Amino acid sequence: MKTAELFKHKQVLSFEIFPPKRTAPMDTIYQTLEALQNLKPDFISVTYGASGSDNFSSTLDIASTVKNTYGVESVAHLACIRLTKQDALHQLNGFKEAGIENILALRGDLPVNEEGHDDFTYASDLVSFIKENGDFNVLGACYPEGHPEADSLDIDLRNLKTKVEAGVDQLTSQLFLDNDYFYRFRDRAHAAGITLPIEAGIMPVINKAQIVRLTTLCGANIPEKFSKMMDRYEDDPEAMRDAGIAYAIDQIVDLITQDVDGIHLYTMNNPYVAQKIYEAMHRLVRS
Ligand code: FAD
Repeated sequence: MKTAELFKHKQVLSFEIFPPKRTAPMDTIYQTLEALQNLKPDFISVTYGASGSDNFSSTLDIASTVKNTYGVESVAHLACIRLTKQDALHQLNGFKEAGIENILALRGDLPVNEEGHDDFTYASDLVSFIKENGDFNVLGACYPEGHPEADSLDIDLRNLKTKVEAGVDQLTSQLFLDNDYFYRFRDRAHAAGITLPIEAGIMPVINKAQIVRLTTLCGANIPEKFSKMMDRYEDDPEAMRDAGIAYAIDQIVDLITQDVDGIHLYTMNNPYVAQKIYEAMHRLVRS
């Protein structure tokens, strides 16, 4: 099923997982999936490590298992920064053969001290390429606080509009810790004529290491109430986990009542956290 269809009927709940590290056994992800599929999300998306070719096969294998073994709709991420058109075609054929209909088309983070390929510069180039080469539902990424490389949110929104016009069917947002950024972004996207469903990306922050990633890679603003929570519980991992879950639930309840199109939960492959959040929210969504 094409996941964009879901938004016509309900507020969507999706999960994101990532393939295990190369050093970890593949089985770990299947234990995670076993637990996540019991929560009956509308779909599960599987990330793609833009840095190596063997990552494609793990994304494909896992996305195929989500769909064909667990019966949950899947979305495969695909990042184009290191791909030639020939690589991309090969990967699209792999998705087609596995019956995967949904692709999150990404640029990927820019390589440091390394040449990329010239075939794709921006995610919008990959979006057009996917649309020309198959009947896929295409998702795109968006950034409520602006993409870190963009000089302003206005410029980023203009580029987002180009990506949408290239053929994106639905958007998934970067994580954020202050819902006001999401609401302002949604209003401005609508004003710019971007009317696709936009899922709000939520990551429960359950340990301090995640904060470094949030601030450096994603550029997310850290609200004062969140910093206070971190300071208070940083030496108590269980309390930190519980507080992080409570914070995410608080964000989600507010988003649902403000009528977001859907919630995309960055599960960090942690079924305990996903379950706690699911229990708190599943009766609240519009179905
Ligand atoms: P783009 O849409 O190409 O935007 C990148 C930058 O270029 C932005 O600053 C934009 O404003 C600018 N830009 C776009 N088009 C133009 C144009 N025509 N002219 C000038 N400037 C332009 N990374 C992975 O490697 N694997 C994953 O699985 C993965 N999953 C993700 C899932 C989500 C929901 C999100 C939000 C991000 C994910 N990422 C993933 C990270 C993503 O690859 C990075 O954020 C990357 O830096 C940008 O990717 P993009 O697809 O948003 O790029």
